[in-house]
Amino acid sequence: MYLKEIKISGFKSFADKININLDNNITCIVGPNGSGKSNIVDAVKWVMGEQSVKSLRGNNTMTDVIFSGSSSRNPLNIASVSLVFDNSDNCLKNNMDEVSITRKVYRSGESEYYINNEQCRLKDISDLFLDTGVGKYAFNIISQGEVSKIISDSPSERRLIFEEAANVLKYKKRKEEALRKLDKTNENLVRVNDIVSELETQIEPLKDQSEKAKEYLSYKDELEDLEISLIANDLGDLNNEYNSLQKEIDNLNNEIISFNAGSSSSDAEILKKQEELTLANENIASLNDKFLSLSKEEERLNGEKNIIKERSKYDATDSKVHENIANLKEQQLSINNRMISLKTDKEIIKKKIEALNNDILLARQNLNNTIKERSEMEVDISSKNKELTDISYKIKTLSSYIEQGGDMPVSVRKVLSNPRIHGMHNTISRLINFDLKYSTAIEVALGGAKNYVVVESPEVAKNAINYLKENNIGRVTFFPITAIKPRFVETDILNLLSNDNGFIDVLANKLSFSETYKNIIFNQLGNVLLVDNIDSANRISKLINNRYKIVTLEGEVINVGGSITGGSLNKNSVISEKYELQNLNQREKNVKEELSYLEEKVNEVINNEKQKQVSIIELEKQKLLLNEELSSKRSVFDSLKNDYERITLELNNLKSLTNDTLQEEEDKIIIKYYEVINEKELVSKQIVEAESAKNDISSAIERLQADYRFNNSKSKELGDKLRLFEVKSTKISVKMDNLLNILNGTYNLTFEKAKENYVLDIDHDIATKSVNELKSKIKALGVINIGAIEEYDRINTRYEFLIKQKNDLTGAIEILSKIISELDKVMEEEFLTTFKNIEVEFNNVFKALFGGGSASLKLTDKDNLLETGIDIVVAPPGKKISTITLLSGGEKTLTAISLLFAVLNVKKIPFCIFDEIEAALDEANVERIGNYFEKYVGKTQLIIITHKKKTMEYANTLYGITMQESGVSKLVSVKLVDKK
Ligand code: ATP
Repeated sequence: MYLKEIKISGFKSFADKININLDNNITCIVGPNGSGKSNIVDAVKWVMGEQSVKSLRGNNTMTDVIFSGSSSRNPLNIASVSLVFDNSDNCLKNNMDEVSITRKVYRSGESEYYINNEQCRLKDISDLFLDTGVGKYAFNIISQGEVSKIISDSPSERRLIFEEAANVLKYKKRKEEALRKLDKTNENLVRVNDIVSELETQIEPLKDQSEKAKEYLSYKDELEDLEISLIANDLGDLNNEYNSLQKEIDNLNNEIISFNAGSSSSDAEILKKQEELTLANENIASLNDKFLSLSKEEERLNGEKNIIKERSKYDATDSKVHENIANLKEQQLSINNRMISLKTDKEIIKKKIEALNNDILLARQNLNNTIKERSEMEVDISSKNKELTDISYKIKTLSSYIEQGGDMPVSVRKVLSNPRIHGMHNTISRLINFDLKYSTAIEVALGGAKNYVVVESPEVAKNAINYLKENNIGRVTFFPITAIKPRFVETDILNLLSNDNGFIDVLANKLSFSETYKNIIFNQLGNVLLVDNIDSANRISKLINNRYKIVTLEGEVINVGGSITGGSLNKNSVISEKYELQNLNQREKNVKEELSYLEEKVNEVINNEKQKQVSIIELEKQKLLLNEELSSKRSVFDSLKNDYERITLELNNLKSLTNDTLQEEEDKIIIKYYEVINEKELVSKQIVEAESAKNDISSAIERLQADYRFNNSKSKELGDKLRLFEVKSTKISVKMDNLLNILNGTYNLTFEKAKENYVLDIDHDIATKSVNELKSKIKALGVINIGAIEEYDRINTRYEFLIKQKNDLTGAIEILSKIISELDKVMEEEFLTTFKNIEVEFNNVFKALFGGGSASLKLTDKDNLLETGIDIVVAPPGKKISTITLLSGGEKTLTAISLLFAVLNVKKIPFCIFDEIEAALDEANVERIGNYFEKYVGKTQLIIITHKKKTMEYANTLYGITMQESGVSKLVSVKLVDKK
């Protein structure tokens, strides 16, 4: 590579455009002081990217390089410099054989760079010259007065020349870039670490809160299902209990009313009877008075009778006849009296018998009613007993059908009952519970899958299959819990269906089952849609493009793709049998309760009936006794009647024999006497009867009082029972209200909805215990922040993202550090090799230029090759080694030029521009240097600005710069010169 052309326009004193054509030899540029020669050096430095205004001898800004005008010319607004390189050796990393670079600056301060007339960045220009030996730190452009700067530079500034020579700048640049990236990465890492630690302070409490909230939600879900089904179940039971209590209360109220009515009527009856008793007592007293006065009359008449009898003994001749007549008369009257009395007795007895007959008739009617009531109850009991036998038989048959596997294939039954295969659960149909109304839909949706066997793992299935094969039992499908994945209906479809009245739910949601089987149940029914009827099924199937299986409550199915299955269904399956069994058990319980109530009642009726029979027998006995008494009275009466007729006959015979006045008187008295006796007897009987009536009234009063007391105590007893029942009923009602409040308030459900959708499928006590445990667990969780779940997910996602970033950054830091240390290693090696080579050349060149002496280079920090500075140690001939600062001006220049040539010897540098480097040297030294210049011809292009004639002699081409027009430089002559 060499510099073919320099084009300058508007740059410093070059107001007009000049083109300096160069060849790959030695070119000298000459001209008077101030003509603009050094401006050419500045132009080259500038176009190659110099950024220091000072280094370009400007004042403030880069616009200082634009021609600022002269006495005869106006200032320009743009400065432009181009260099054209021959790149046939491809030294510049550009495919062209000729490469031009251009820099422009405008008065406005804007800068532009071009490579081959294409605008580019400053960096592109710097990169183009990287490690070509041409560049900012290269030794190839030495401005005026700067040659000995190499001597005055600090060891570390001097190091740059060696780095350039060692070609390590590209590594250095890469290292800088890597370091910059490392810094940036470290900064990012610090920032990420800051955020990570900030997040760590938030994430832990949030994690706790989120876990707590998740725990709460899972408890709540579990509690909700369990509590609602428990409440629905309890409400059902309580409602039944409440209704039966209400029935009992109604019955008790009726019974109490009837007992109260009984006691009131007894009370009224007692009053009536007491009045009757008073009357009876009065009657008895008056009869007793009458009896007393009759007794006195009887005594008086008896006296008169006796007196007449005595008189007749003295007065009458036939006193014997008279006495007989009197005796017979008395007998006749006495018999007559007894007959009258018996007649009265008979009448009384007849009346009593008549009354008894009435009583017996009534009692019999009453008994017949009771018997009728009992036999109706017995018919009822017998029909209930029959029903109970039927139910028990059905329960027994169904239970054994279910126990023995029912519709289960033999292979499934055998595999399930084999105790040697561990990890078997059951068939799908035996692991689910649901409301009876969904049984048909579930039956058809499951189809053959209802007998698929759920097992713990694929291993278990393998063992079971081996067993089936070995024993040639048949085939069974197994569902391993750990392997089966659930299937779902897409949310979009569910949202679409939520507005369709015919859509009920996803079928799997209508089942209850243990959480363990969720994946399996959802695998089978999680993507099946349950609808009310076939019309809805057709509509919905169309709506969702036949993408999901649809099943109706009646059991019609629209399969994926649109095929329809329907018709009648064989109901003989465990799914329906299980629910029939449940219904039968409930019915058995109800019938037993009804039966026990009826039996209790029938026993009461039977007791009642027995009592009635006993009292009828008692009445019959009384009637018998009265009849016996009546017939005895009749026979006595008949015999007395015979006596009476005989005596009357006898008396009539005797009366014809006598005619006695005394007799007539006596007859009168006797008749009167027996009338009195007769009346007295009658009164006596009336007294007995009145006494008996009085006793009857007293007994009736006692009986009524007993009835009254019984009714009262019964009413009280039932009243107490009623109050107990009412308290119980109120308690149940309060309990029901509480449960309904929980359903409505907490779960926004009605009892009907809860009953329809929630089935208690575990033992009631276990469910209650679980609900209490879940409630205490929820309480123990304390305050819950549901938002923490989302917040934690958000923060955690960010945290994980940042941790990944942190790891990436740490990885990047490691990679960058490795790159840097590899670059360091290469740079150290290259630097040391170049340093050593230059040191050797430096000593050689020094000796040649000084004609003796010695020169060496020293590393200021051997152990740090990347940063070490470089000291120059020289001893001109005959002089002691001393510090270079003590060298003369010429010696310094010569030492610097020695180093320059040493570098040129070691490293290929395409071109060098030296601005009066030899100005301080004497003639002899200028010549020595000139000889050296010649050595580089063909290897390094030299452009030398000089005032020394001697130097000009070594040039192949000579250019002159003048400033004819005041203030504007011109390339005045180009002249090829013959070398001497
Ligand atoms: P010497 O031989 O004395 O070193 P030289 O030929 O190297 O001189 P330069 O230093 O290249 O001369 O040129 C200096 C001249 O350039 C000065 O006259 C100066 O006024 C002029 N100059 C510098 N900058 C500008 C500018 N921006 N516009 C116009 N002229 C400028």
